[in-house]
Amino acid sequence: MKIIAIGRNYAAHAIELNNAIPTKPVIFLKPDTAILKDNKPFYLPDFSSDIHYELEVVLKICKEGKHIAEKFAANYYEEIGLGVDFTARDIQAEHKEKGLPWELAKAFDHSAVISNFIPKSEFKDLYDLRFELQKNGERKQNGHTANLLFSFEKIIAFVSKYITLKKGDLIFTGTPEGVGKVEHGDRLEAWLEGRQLLNFDIK
Ligand code: MG
Repeated sequence: MKIIAIGRNYAAHAIELNNAIPTKPVIFLKPDTAILKDNKPFYLPDFSSDIHYELEVVLKICKEGKHIAEKFAANYYEEIGLGVDFTARDIQAEHKEKGLPWELAKAFDHSAVISNFIPKSEFKDLYDLRFELQKNGERKQNGHTANLLFSFEKIIAFVSKYITLKKGDLIFTGTPEGVGKVEHGDRLEAWLEGRQLLNFDIK
């Protein structure tokens, strides 16, 4: 399986990092070795001194598709969950400045935290979902899927023009504003529509 992630998909987050609001999706990949699940602790890597959390809604692809039309894209995911796209912001800043790819900042081991997945049929409207991240009991991110620049269907249509999607692939759909640093001893918790899906420690 592969992990596809969308950058700058909420305008307020693009602005907080001094990036332009994109006119088409910005995508990057993480390998399967990036997965961290079951609320296992995240161990801070020694190559960065500025690891940031980015809470995101994650789609789980349920069947193979290529060149998927936007109007059929909803058939390609049945479950959603939450994820944290851990980012080595110091490495990313250096690579952005030099015009280099982001993999070292984004694709490292355990940089893709995922929750359990929930059938999307359990939610009335996928574009009226609130998701929230708390660090040490304090709310840091409060996202709403109505603010997505590119809808889940637009993302699937766009990505599948270039890359075949397969069953089990995950799509991280972008983070809202409020990203920030994690430190040793922090606890991250996250909720989707009031359901706690993530609760893990930073070590
Ligand atoms: Mg992200």
